[in-house]
Amino acid sequence: MAAGTGAFAARSELRRWAGLPPEAEPRTPGAVDQRGAQWVAADPANWRRAERPADYAIDRVVIHVVQGSFASALKVFQDPWHAAAAHYVVRKDGHVAQLVRELDVAFHAGNRAYNERSIGIEHEGFVDRPESFTRAMYAASARLTAGICRRYGFPADREHLIGHVEVPGADHTDPGPYWDWDRYLRLVRAELRRPPSPSPHVSG
Ligand SMILES: [Zn+2]
Repeated sequence: MAAGTGAFAARSELRRWAGLPPEAEPRTPGAVDQRGAQWVAADPANWRRAERPADYAIDRVVIHVVQGSFASALKVFQDPWHAAAAHYVVRKDGHVAQLVRELDVAFHAGNRAYNERSIGIEHEGFVDRPESFTRAMYAASARLTAGICRRYGFPADREHLIGHVEVPGADHTDPGPYWDWDRYLRLVRAELRRPPSPSPHVSG
């Protein structure tokens, strides 16, 4: 896998140098970007195919709260009329579903430029219910965000990890006042200090 990835990266570099559009990265049906995530495809109307980071650099994670259950988030993201989806949904018990590949642009931030540069993570629960945000949820989400910071080489700080409410022009308030940013940043940074786990595409 490492050799193939290297060759692909080298070809991509050559194409960029030659002014050619990015080559479509070979995709495996059902593949996930985060080890252990459950693949549940969002309806293609809720995202746009891209070749990130070759066409758009990724330098933000946008934190969302569903205002509903994990199941309700999966349901609307599979609905072609919903006009939105996030890359990931994290359940109260720490289970993670991936609905859109990180290569692709998911419609989650309500701002085109921010959709193109970010990964969106939804969390089961409600902004006005502090009990929504469990220990298992924070741990799983922090692991996921640390993986994203590693994959795209940006730091785990409040400039790069933002709430939906902080997206320019956002009319949403999530993740709300009970989302503990200090705790979250601590957990993400602790994850980043651990040795990286192998690529999720290598099945064990
Ligand atoms: Zn949101």
